[in-house]
Amino acid sequence: MKERKCNCKLCKRDVRWERFLKKYPFTKKDKEFLDSIYTALHGTELNYEVDEAILDGSWPSAIEQLGRAMKKAEDIKKRREAGERI
Ligand SMILES: [Zn+2]
Repeated sequence: MKERKCNCKLCKRDVRWERFLKKYPFTKKDKEFLDSIYTALHGTELNYEVDEAILDGSWPSAIEQLGRAMKKAEDIKKRREAGERI
C-alpha cells in the first residue's frame, strides 16, 4: 500500500508490513497474495471503525445514516410481521 502515512496504529502497521515483505524472498505472486490479504484486512478494519463511529454517533453523517437504517429496520420488521421471509 503506497499511501500517505500518519502516526496512527494502521499507518504504523503499514510501515512494518512493507518492511516485512522486503525482509523475505517472496515471489512476486506470493507478495501479491499476501498483500491482497493485508489490504482486505485493512479495509475491513477501516469499515469497522467507520461503522463503530456511526453507531456511537460520532461520525459526521451518523444521524442521517442511522435514520435511514431505522426506517429500513422498521420496514423489514413490518414485512416479517406480515409473513414475508426476509
Ligand atoms: Zn494513519
